[in-house]
Amino acid sequence: MPTPGPADRPPSVDTLARSIADVGLPHPMLVDAARTAIANRDPESARALAIAARRRMLRPVINATGTILHTNLGRAPLAVHQDERYTNLELDLTNGERGSRMATAGDLIAKACGAEKAIIVNNCAAAVLLVLSGLADGRDVVVSRSELVEIGGGFRIPDVMARSGANLIEVGTTNRTRVADFAGAVEDPATDVGVVLHVHQSNYKIVGFTEAPTIAELAGLDAPLVADIGSGLLDSRCPWLKGGPPGWLAEEPAARQTLAAGAGLVAFSGDKLFGGPQAGIIAGDAELVDRCANHPLARALRPGDLVLGALQDTALAYLREDGDAIPFWRMATLTVAELRVRANAFEAAGVGDIADVTSTPGGGTLPGVEIDSIGIARVGDHRDALRNRSRPVIARVDDDTTYIDLRTVHPDDDGNVIEALRSLD
Ligand SMILES: *Cc1c(COP(=O)(O)O)cnc(C)c1O
Repeated sequence: MPTPGPADRPPSVDTLARSIADVGLPHPMLVDAARTAIANRDPESARALAIAARRRMLRPVINATGTILHTNLGRAPLAVHQDERYTNLELDLTNGERGSRMATAGDLIAKACGAEKAIIVNNCAAAVLLVLSGLADGRDVVVSRSELVEIGGGFRIPDVMARSGANLIEVGTTNRTRVADFAGAVEDPATDVGVVLHVHQSNYKIVGFTEAPTIAELAGLDAPLVADIGSGLLDSRCPWLKGGPPGWLAEEPAARQTLAAGAGLVAFSGDKLFGGPQAGIIAGDAELVDRCANHPLARALRPGDLVLGALQDTALAYLREDGDAIPFWRMATLTVAELRVRANAFEAAGVGDIADVTSTPGGGTLPGVEIDSIGIARVGDHRDALRNRSRPVIARVDDDTTYIDLRTVHPDDDGNVIEALRSLD
């Protein structure tokens, strides 16, 4: 067998990796690209592989989809700026003693939703896990068959229940459950009910011949009521919005009203309608919150100061009743007239036509809700070209037309989007 000449021999992984150093990635990542390219017998592709790896890294994008809480785009947008620094995360600056990391943000959120106490974990899935572990490990949890839901990302109530060590008691039927069904399980001498669990049907609706007990009815049972409200609406009256609650919020359950109706605890996400960073909040009765906080899992689920600082800022905005300081609420309540003013600038720049579009709250909340909005339309599917920009623009396509929904585009990015649209010509 003839030995291959030097011209045929593949380059060494290291040489190839060094030849693409200008891509600007750390050497081990270039080595990965080089190794893959050589394994594919296509050394020339190493540069493109490295560029693709760089492209996948976390970066700011412009959300032009109109879905305000877009799970693929990090749900609620947030401004966080800080220098290298320590914080008083677990130091009480008033007396120099050890403090609690949960206290500040937790106390502010508790105040904003009328709870005695609140603690914070990494997300709402973790909050549900911790509540069930803290209150019902080795005991029974009663849930309606209409609420044994999958929220998305693999979060299934029956599976979380199993992990928590709680035993699931299903009551009622898919479409109809009465308080008597719950009472039967709670009062049965053979059961040991640690929690009655109510789960908000965030991302789906059961319509037609349906029945479900109210929070007040469930709260009258002889076991702590925990409501997983998911979305994180703090107060249905929305005192942080000058115009009061928008019509599309209609039936969304809110933390303050759920607690006032008698729930012992509510659990909700930090990055849905609350409009903060990814987090899970457990709020309500102080004794129940403490039982969750004292469970060993609480340590494994606790957030760090980046998240707690961002939650503190968001909670302060609620307490100041300053909805404009919370990006989700600012975007969600922009009027069509305000959006039209911005759209005029796009039309004047000749980069597209003004179009009526509809935004959605997103984040698995408020299914079916549409908010009138204004967009810019361009014939054809331009999603790839827009996404491939150095400041990626994520757009929506309908009927072979690309739409930029201005509601979810920060006004400071309008110039970037105009530039991106111009580049399509
Ligand atoms: C979204 C949601 C969750 C999961 O919240 P994460 O913060 O994404 O973990 C749990 N329960 C309900 C009812 C939800 O809507």
